[in-house]
Amino acid sequence: MKVNEIFHSLQGEGYNTGKSAVFVRLAGCNLQCPFCDTDHTAFEEMAEEQIADTVAQYPASLVVITGGEPALQLTSSLIDRLHAKRNTVAVETNGTLPLPQNVDWITVSPKQDFVGEEGKCVITRANEVKVIFDGEHPVSDCGITAEHYFVQPCDTGNTRKNRKISNLCVEFVKQNPKWRLSLQTHKLLGIR
Ligand code: SF4
Repeated sequence: MKVNEIFHSLQGEGYNTGKSAVFVRLAGCNLQCPFCDTDHTAFEEMAEEQIADTVAQYPASLVVITGGEPALQLTSSLIDRLHAKRNTVAVETNGTLPLPQNVDWITVSPKQDFVGEEGKCVITRANEVKVIFDGEHPVSDCGITAEHYFVQPCDTGNTRKNRKISNLCVEFVKQNPKWRLSLQTHKLLGIR
């Protein structure tokens, strides 16, 4: 499996914000979003057992498989290995590819409004939907049924623009109470 990095931090976004978590970033993505701020191209080949052993070195029980797009590589056998070590396995996906059935927590962050048809979601059920709002494209759940819906301001790298987008997100949530605000709290804290 092509692994970009494994690190221990707090989940910064969405429903599980603030939880101790080990992040497994798998390399590669099938989309090219204009605002992508993740360098997921470099990788080290790791066997599933090696990944599970590395994760087990940390005290967190929550494992977040992210990317890139983790569905390109994720297997049910890796999840079984993580479960065997008493981990809860969460996956953050753009929703364009099916996931193994044994994932415990699915976060879909749809990108079809940014990249068009190739970003169309095939996943229709998730635990949470997290939409990145860039101040231009409308906020949409893309027809995904979920327990929680989050809108998260896009980090444009421009302080004034970010402030404007955040204010629009606040107004959106005030008017659309199905949605909650998600912030990239790891960035606010200056942690990974
Ligand atoms: S889906 Fe995520 S990782 Fe892939 S290009 Fe878009 S923002 Fe980057």
